[in-house]
Amino acid sequence: TSAQIGVTGLAVMGRNLARNFARNGYTVAVHNRTAARTHALVKEFGHEGEFVAAETAKDFVAALERPRRLVVMVKAGEPTDAVIREFAPLLEPGDMIIDGGNAHFADTRRRERELREQGLHFVGAGISGGEEGALHGPSIMPGGSPESYESLGPMLEKISAKAADGAPCVTHVGPDGAGHFVKMVHNGIEYADMQLIGEAYQLLRDVAGYEPAQIADIFRTWNTGRLDSYLIEITAEVLSHVDAATGRPFVDVVVDQAEQKGTGRWTVQIALDLGVPVSGIAEAVFARSLSGHAGLREASRGLAGPKAAALGEAEAQAFADRVEQALYASKIVSYTQGFHEIAAGSEEYGWDIDLGAVSSIWRGGCIIRAAFLDRIRAAYDTRADLPSLLSDATFASEIAAAQDAWREVLVSATLQGVPTPGFAAALAYYDALRAERLPAALTQGQRDFFGAHTYRRVDREGAFHTLWGGDRSEVDA
Ligand code: NDP
Repeated sequence: TSAQIGVTGLAVMGRNLARNFARNGYTVAVHNRTAARTHALVKEFGHEGEFVAAETAKDFVAALERPRRLVVMVKAGEPTDAVIREFAPLLEPGDMIIDGGNAHFADTRRRERELREQGLHFVGAGISGGEEGALHGPSIMPGGSPESYESLGPMLEKISAKAADGAPCVTHVGPDGAGHFVKMVHNGIEYADMQLIGEAYQLLRDVAGYEPAQIADIFRTWNTGRLDSYLIEITAEVLSHVDAATGRPFVDVVVDQAEQKGTGRWTVQIALDLGVPVSGIAEAVFARSLSGHAGLREASRGLAGPKAAALGEAEAQAFADRVEQALYASKIVSYTQGFHEIAAGSEEYGWDIDLGAVSSIWRGGCIIRAAFLDRIRAAYDTRADLPSLLSDATFASEIAAAQDAWREVLVSATLQGVPTPGFAAALAYYDALRAERLPAALTQGQRDFFGAHTYRRVDREGAFHTLWGGDRSEVDA
């Protein structure tokens, strides 16, 4: 038998991806460094479709029809390079290596370049949806050459998630590292979404005085409206869960220190390099980092805060409505920032990424899937070269309607001492973008004062310097 596709690396992700291919009628060659995993897969799930178990790299490659399609699902980083070193010499021109791991897009660019010299296609494919997504349909973000997508596209479309309108959640994002770049920003947006939801929860608890089970109900209601999304849905599930051992709300028995695997941090690092203000995503990454500084938090617990006054029943209701508006407005801003970063990456690396297509493939399968993404796609359908999501008339009017509530929520949060870095960063971004004048003019004056860094004038072309240490006359720089 010859297999149409092969998967090497059979931990949770690779195993489920292989099963997904097999369940969709493809013959799948399976391989893992430790052969026991390969045999376990075939023993447990062999009845689901056609698998060809290969113990050695040579057998694995021999089992694949040509041009070969070889999916690598191993630990990201050095293990991916090790696997490439092992397989590349066994392949022939035209064959494809697809890296479905969470690789850094710069590594993907390097690997693609190196393998292209051998005539091999290297496809860095971002895959989102966790192990359930891998099995039942993930959102897939492949980069690499257009030729490789011609061969792979139909298979990926078959195993991917489908949006509500039936469209597959996969598209050829762009050349070389474009897919992994977009997956990285997806995760950055995911961090921001989670942080904003966390702030909404904290406000409902500490300002409105609701219990976790009540807050779960509020999130369930929100999930029937414009906030309808996977993350809101699971938030309600987590908040209503009661710990079996203690009978307390589950959220109260979990240590409040958030961990991270790095893709959110990459999103911010790359944004800094590209000069893109992703302040909401950055605050989300920093909030996780702050939560983990147990010693620092312990040492700070005695610091003064405001006297908190609990809201009355009717006030709490109205407050919850305002929090929904603040959450929605902040969410628009974090997606605005994320899409700005994708546009900037596309420009920097010449990827020509279709932002509407990206929002379209995030509608199903991935962690940030949401009804909201249909609106983003509609915005880019209306105008493909939209300078920013905030320039879309629908989003602009929604924020206009939400802004009073958004500001009031931040006032309450500040007065009650509830940290809301995500909501605050989003509002500051919004207010800065719409400002007539920014204090950046003063910054330029200071820079010219201490470093003769020069400035431009509003009324004339050119660069100027004021002789601050002398008679303060202005000279052409
Ligand atoms: P892990 O990241 O835990 O990786 C384990 C797999 O990598 C095993 O098959 C292991 O083989 C193999 N491996 C590790 N080192 C080497 C090496 N030097 N040479 C050959 N094989 C090696 O598995 P996951 O399934 O969790 O993730 C796979 C990839 O998918 C990762 O890049 C991850 O970031 C990404 N991903 C994961 C998601 C998730 O929800 N878990 C979601 C989206 C992407 P062995 O059995 O022999 O040890």
